[in-house]
Amino acid sequence: MAAEHSSHTKLSALAAADDLCDVASNGSTPSPTTYALLDHDTYSDDDQSDEMQASTGSDAHHPYLTQRSMSKNSYEVSHAFANAMFDLPTNESDASHPGSAAPAEPNSGPAPAPTTPRSILMSQRLGKAHSGAVIPQLSPRTPAMIADHPSMPSLILDAALYSSAENPAAKHSRASLATLETPLAETPAPENNDDDVLGMRLEKEIRKMMLRTHLSDETSDLVGMSETPEELQRIGKALAKCMKLRDKYMALSCQKDIENPKNCPGWKIYPPPPPPAWHNYHEPASSEDVEFDMNDCEIPPIDGDCVFAMGNNGVYSVYESAHDRDNNGQPFTSTPSIKEFFMDLDFVLDSISDGPIKTWAFRRLRYLDARWQLYTLLNEREETMQSQMVPHRDLYNVRKVDGHVHLASAMNQKHLLRFIKYKLKTDPDKPVIVRDGKTLTLREVFESLNLTAYDLSIDTLDMHAHKGAYHRFDKFNLKYNPIGESRLREIFMKTDNFIDGEFFAQITKEVISDLEQSKYQMAEYRVSIYGRSRDEWDKLAAWVVDNKIFSSNVRWLIQVPRLYNIYKATGIVSNFEQVLVNLFEPLFEVTRDPSSHPKLHVFLQRVVGFDSVDDESKSERRMHKKYPLPKVWDTETNPPYNYYCYFTMANMCALNQWRMRRNFNTFVFRPHAGEAGDTEHLAAAFLAAQSINHGILLRKVPALQYLYYLQQIGLAMSPLSNNALFLVYERNPFNTYFQRGLNVALSTDDPLQFHFTKEPLMEEYSVAAQIWKFSSVDMCELSMNSVIQSGFEAEVKRHWVGREYLETGQTEVHKTNVPLCRLKYRSSTLEQEHAIIARMVGRNNGNNV
Ligand SMILES: [Zn+2]
Repeated sequence: MAAEHSSHTKLSALAAADDLCDVASNGSTPSPTTYALLDHDTYSDDDQSDEMQASTGSDAHHPYLTQRSMSKNSYEVSHAFANAMFDLPTNESDASHPGSAAPAEPNSGPAPAPTTPRSILMSQRLGKAHSGAVIPQLSPRTPAMIADHPSMPSLILDAALYSSAENPAAKHSRASLATLETPLAETPAPENNDDDVLGMRLEKEIRKMMLRTHLSDETSDLVGMSETPEELQRIGKALAKCMKLRDKYMALSCQKDIENPKNCPGWKIYPPPPPPAWHNYHEPASSEDVEFDMNDCEIPPIDGDCVFAMGNNGVYSVYESAHDRDNNGQPFTSTPSIKEFFMDLDFVLDSISDGPIKTWAFRRLRYLDARWQLYTLLNEREETMQSQMVPHRDLYNVRKVDGHVHLASAMNQKHLLRFIKYKLKTDPDKPVIVRDGKTLTLREVFESLNLTAYDLSIDTLDMHAHKGAYHRFDKFNLKYNPIGESRLREIFMKTDNFIDGEFFAQITKEVISDLEQSKYQMAEYRVSIYGRSRDEWDKLAAWVVDNKIFSSNVRWLIQVPRLYNIYKATGIVSNFEQVLVNLFEPLFEVTRDPSSHPKLHVFLQRVVGFDSVDDESKSERRMHKKYPLPKVWDTETNPPYNYYCYFTMANMCALNQWRMRRNFNTFVFRPHAGEAGDTEHLAAAFLAAQSINHGILLRKVPALQYLYYLQQIGLAMSPLSNNALFLVYERNPFNTYFQRGLNVALSTDDPLQFHFTKEPLMEEYSVAAQIWKFSSVDMCELSMNSVIQSGFEAEVKRHWVGREYLETGQTEVHKTNVPLCRLKYRSSTLEQEHAIIARMVGRNNGNNV
């Protein structure tokens, strides 16, 4: 322990002298609204997009903003339009005479002085409800709450408002809107500036587009839509069914956050999270860290008579007793069959490739783009002002979680280099590895490489993946080897090696200590379980517990590489079922009797879920009409992604159902999906995964992207990683997703290969902010998303984002620094999309979903 400590101190001293620059201070300046809408080219490079553009039948460049359409139209509605769009305070006379109203003045609508009394602002700032204030009822992240939310009846589909002046229903809606809003002071006349001109053009274009894409009102009339009512109903039903299917799998595999025992009151977190730093302004709280002690961990007793068994189908089941199991009794766990899963998957795939559904989803996404542009145009000043009023919080002082980072590459290169040099200097005679039957010391390893500590530099280390790795995942994997030497990777970056992962534990603790010092940054590190042997889990748990790698800033995810073909080729396993047994049997054992693997039990309390990793771009030829079951999958071919997905999710069903019954924390499935390869992966993840990593390929599948939006499936994206591997930065869809309202967060993936500074997460935020001109509010929203997506316990997350975030989805501005108007915008937009689907489904026969 003392040695570790001194090593770190020395390293820190080295660091102070020879530090990396910290680019993190770049991103906090709020930027002006960009004119990004003028160069929407997200789709333009893709085949898919050409098709979509053709099917919308619009102008060649842009469906709603062209030179021609801008010049020939006049403005018919304005205030009512803008106000209704964003529930801004409106004025009755304005609303009832849309034709005569002046064009929207971008900066005036939400201007603080005339429209928002200071008392309201203050209460907003404190996160309290106020009679006159606009308080979000829902966060953008809780679609499940939408359907039965009391605020739904007041939702007015804005198209009804703008359909046409003669339409009586439209008038009715307009009137009802007026009664919903408190009339406030007259909006000042517009000033003549660039924002106005742009705003007016936008408004007109969006209005036209909405006429094309919206349902008009409750009388089943359609305004300018090409789809017939039957077609619309068909589209609505297909989308609703896709969502229902996902719900079914989420419920069966117990992946809903609100049901996870660790999110229920009374869940004990050990060691306890640090107390709030400031009880009040004058008195900093004392923060005495409780050090982890295995003896303080409670190990629950065995679960009576319950037994588990792997069935013929490659999925575990749990029975009340051995008698039940042996006499064909029913297990108390239930799992969907592989046939059911693949049929459901086919339904989703058929739906997202259906022409009319694609067109429809594409239009909705475009509408979301436009709605966002108008929102930022009108509300940017208000947002900035609201966030400035929040004490203490800024971009650096809101919690953010790196939700997708691999532990083996969590340190930066400089850190690893320093660590290797330090070990070479202080511990050269330690035996570290066995090669060809001979035990080598660290000095001997370096002698065999013909290197001294002095020779080592970042360049000799050669781990950056900026050149030569593009579309070469194989080359990228080799970048994990320092100096291209797998020996060094084995010594320094493995948990299970000749020195029992001692070096890796030390450097991991240094990485974690850096994280703790920044206080507001957390990480969910991914560690590997391969499924090659039964003792992997115990070894990993022992590595974590014995080295006391516990931190309030860290949780774990288990990454399972899809490498069956390699194990098969080297004779480690004979069929796929053995991989599943190696992966899951220890988990069932420890769930039945925690004392059989006490360290594993303790470690699992900090494990969030499973990840599935490997090169997605590998081709997957479908050799079989019907996939063989795992026990007869004994060919050399690797099973396809979807097959891995199903068996992970299916075994999680039984495991989680049992763990829930035992009041142990349950796991979620958060695979890498849509980084490269077939877009089918994203459809499988839509059904089986709670959230995913990457998802950049959603840009090619509008219908699926729309479903990901509706379900608010979390996407932990890493544009810098994509830039090095699969998609250049400027084409990354991250910003588009963010504007549309998908549940996106930034993550680092592999700081060792992609980042240069010692705060890789801030580097990721910083680059994104520079390229896409994110405001500080945008970045705080991204941070908030990352916390909500993460697998930290609800008790901790309540402290980080809001006391009722889990039940109501409502976050608190004094914790997240995300202003209420932004939250309100996100939730009302999402509500509206759900309401439209519901109405499409029920429009002919009055039935609901
Ligand atoms: Zn990754």
